[in-house]
Amino acid sequence: MTAESRFNRNELLFGAEGQARVAATPIAIVGVGGLGSHVAQQLAYLGTQEFVLVDADRVTSSSLNRLIGANPRDADDSTAKVAVAERLIHQIREEARIRSFEAWIDDPEAYRAAVECDVVFGCLDEDPPRLRLVELSSEARRPYFDLATDVSDDGRAYGGRLLVSIDGERCLFCMGLLDQEAIRRDAETEEQRAADDRIYGVRRGAMQAAGPSVVSINGVVASAAVTEFMVWVTGLRDPRRYLVYRAERGIITTPSDPPLEHCPFCQR
Ligand SMILES: [Zn+2]
Repeated sequence: MTAESRFNRNELLFGAEGQARVAATPIAIVGVGGLGSHVAQQLAYLGTQEFVLVDADRVTSSSLNRLIGANPRDADDSTAKVAVAERLIHQIREEARIRSFEAWIDDPEAYRAAVECDVVFGCLDEDPPRLRLVELSSEARRPYFDLATDVSDDGRAYGGRLLVSIDGERCLFCMGLLDQEAIRRDAETEEQRAADDRIYGVRRGAMQAAGPSVVSINGVVASAAVTEFMVWVTGLRDPRRYLVYRAERGIITTPSDPPLEHCPFCQR
């Protein structure tokens, strides 16, 4: 196989120069579970050469409905999710350079490695670590692609969203997309949490109940994110900053909600 043939069909869309820009853009993926494993796979095919992977979780049998690249043996062996993603990327691109951290982003080494990348993808389930990525993106001025899937309590609404933060224009905080209650609770001690629960009752979200998660819904959100990255990095067009996938209606919308003014994380 020649280097010319490999990305020929990409280059028909965005040119050899665009392909070179993809290759020259190191990417950190924080969270390589249901969403991040799709992102890792697609970026490897797109032509990303340098990856930083951050995820402290290990594969269980309940991951096997959606974790791209995982097999039953990984569940038996409790393989680290970063090891599954690394194997997946290397199967597609043997020469890819990958640094993996079986940790979360509050680990100083993982944080440093992520900051050294040009772009960060956040593919997390919970808002407290998302806030750390908003901080990272703000402090280090890194473009940040945040992916999320959601299912309403009654199961009637399901889908996900993508928020793209570039040049300090908007972020999860000023778009009102962070669950402040979950973040406040995360900062509490065990005792404070127990006291809250006695007073207010145990919140559903606080119980860390594993909600629904389905491979195809994750795939739509991940594909939208990688596509917006691709059009931006290759110069095809300006990326959409905010996309919402409503799977129960079969549509993707582009809400025009403005960010709040005076965001502590955005440099407007
Ligand atoms: Zn902001």
